[in-house]
Parts: sequence; structure tokens; C-alpha cells
Amino acid sequence: MSLPGTCQCAVMDAFNRPLALREFPLPERLEPGELIVEVDLSGICGTDVHLHKGQLAIPLPLILGHETTGRIAALGDSGATDFVGRPLRIGDRIAFTVGRTCRSCRYCRVYRLPSRCEKRSAYGVNISCRQAPHLLGGYGQYHFLYADTAVFRLPDDLPSEAVVGAGCALVTAIHGFEKLAMQWAESVVIQGAGPVGLAALAIAKEAGARPLIVVGGPRDRLERCRRFGADLTIDIDEVPDPDARRRLVLDATGGIGADVVVECVGIPNAVAEGWDLCRDGGKYLVLGHYGDAGPTMLNPHVITRKELTVLGTWGSEPQHWITSLEFLRTRRDAYPFHELITHRFSLAQANEALAAVADWQTGKAVIVPNGQA
Ligand SMILES: [Zn+2]
Ligand SMILES: [Zn+2]
Repeated sequence: MSLPGTCQCAVMDAFNRPLALREFPLPERLEPGELIVEVDLSGICGTDVHLHKGQLAIPLPLILGHETTGRIAALGDSGATDFVGRPLRIGDRIAFTVGRTCRSCRYCRVYRLPSRCEKRSAYGVNISCRQAPHLLGGYGQYHFLYADTAVFRLPDDLPSEAVVGAGCALVTAIHGFEKLAMQWAESVVIQGAGPVGLAALAIAKEAGARPLIVVGGPRDRLERCRRFGADLTIDIDEVPDPDARRRLVLDATGGIGADVVVECVGIPNAVAEGWDLCRDGGKYLVLGHYGDAGPTMLNPHVITRKELTVLGTWGSEPQHWITSLEFLRTRRDAYPFHELITHRFSLAQANEALAAVADWQTGKAVIVPNGQA
């Protein structure tokens, strides 16, 4: 594969301003382990919308995009390996983790919590494209990967659409459920029917949850939740009163509430409602608050009286990708994440793509930076 001298990327120079198409040179030389990837699909995550609105402190200019698949177009002289040590070759179709960790801080080494690495950075989120190698986000024709990136070769029977359709939500939910340590045949309530809610639902279903209940909206998202295996969906537009929703959950769980409730909405006051939906001795996982949506009123007495376990997880770690990709490959019929992609945009349409996601017009939107959208 011969590389062009330059390529195009959609660059965010300022918050709330249109992204601009810009040309960058491709690196002429790669160090050992470094890769250049020709991007085939770049997912648009709801987080991109928050980043574009300036809701997180990030450096600019920046190339957004942290849900990316592509083919290896170039690798450093002494080659590179995937996360499990197999050699990578030009033309391999891959996915990769966007989080970069230092592997030397206390969180990386002592607590084994790389998701909380003190020097953590992420492609497409907070690594500026100002300096070479520039190509550090998914909204571009090519993506540069540092040697410390965890790379996963995609099996031939796993379409890129499934990987990007599941996006960062599935690995995030896998991380959460690992900490939750759910037991088979527990009753589960998922709060939220967006990408993280749907991913949590798929994992809970696969883990044997019953009944499996989703509280959320709008209607078409709840329909999809039923397609993914929800036994009961409660539409917050049709049942706007939290007390009425609680009674529906009690009815479905033998009058006691759910063993497990998972928050996937990112709305602070959902937490108090979620505690009310737990049975005594139940577990509550907060998964949907990647953005800081502010404080809320909570009554700690509920935790004491109910002996609740309240948990949280942040992002994902490379090993969650192994679980995620194998899950997507083997269970694609039951959980058709590839069908979530409803809108495809060219790189020149990156602003339309962001706007469509911001307006909830789409299932999942992707940018196809090379070739036809
Ligand atoms: Zn994301
Ligand atoms: Zn670290």
C-alpha cells in the first residue's frame, strides 16, 4: 500500500464553531510499533457533541473521533503486534483503544486502575492535532497510532459496522458489569435506552437477567430494546410519574424491586429514582455520567436502610475489547449492533453528522472518510 503525502481531517478549532477540513502531511518515518491506519468508519459518539459544545476542558485544535476502524496502511520498521502479541501486517483490519496510559503512575502500577491513570489521554478526545503527527482522531482519512496503543485485529466474520455500531458504549458497559459481578437470573432494571443502555441491556441479557426491564425513551429506542431482549419497557413519556414507574417495576419483580439497577442516562436525578427501584441488599451501578451534569438531591438513609451497594466505573480498559469483539462476533444475530448505523456521512459532511447526533435524529451516525458515504 503506498501512502499519499497528505490527507484530509475535520478539525475543531473552536467550540460551537463548524469543523474545518484541513490537510495534514502523513509522517514520513515511523518508530517501531507505530502505525498509520486508513480509516474506514468513524463513529460519532454523543460525547463528541459534548466536546464540540466545550463541556469538557480539552486542548484545541482537535480531531474528534474515538470509535474508529480501519486498515493498517504503514507500520514502523521492526513491525508491530496486536494486544495479544500477534504480528500485525499491512492491510489488516483493526480496531484500537483510544485511551493512552503511562504504565508508571500509582494508578497504573499499584492500584491496577489504568482507567484512572494520572497521565491518561485519549485520541479524538484530548490529544491536540497541533503538532506532528497530527492525525490523532477518527474524523480523518488516516489515523496515527503510537506504539503504546492496544490494537485488535478484526476477524473476517466481524463487520466493522458491528464494532462501530457498538462503539465505546459496549466496552464501557462491559467494564461496569465486571465490577457489578451480576449473578445468573437476577432481575435487572436499565435506566436509559441510548447506546450505553442498549449495551448494558445486551450484557445483562447474555448474563441471564430476568426479568430485564428498561426505563427510558423515546418509543423507537424502546422498540430496539425489546429487539435486544428486554422483557418489559417503561416509556417515561407515557409514564411520567416516577412513583408509577416504581410500581410497575415492583409488579414485575415480585413486589420487592430489582436485584440490580444500572444508570445509563447521565441525568443526575435518575439516581434517586434508581435507588428506589432496587430491592433491599441490591446493587446500583452509575455508568452514564461520563459528562459532569452537576449535583442532585439524594437521601443517604436509603443506602443504609436498604443496604445498597453503589458502584461506578470510568471508561474501559484494553481487556474489555477482547470480550467485546468476541461477543459481537459470536452473538451478532441476537444483538445486531451493526443495524444501529442509520446514517453515513462523508468527511466533508462532518458538521451535518455532528448536528444529526446532537438532534437525536439518528440511530448511530458514522463518517466514511475514504470513498462513498
Ligand atoms: Zn464515546
Ligand atoms: Zn498511569
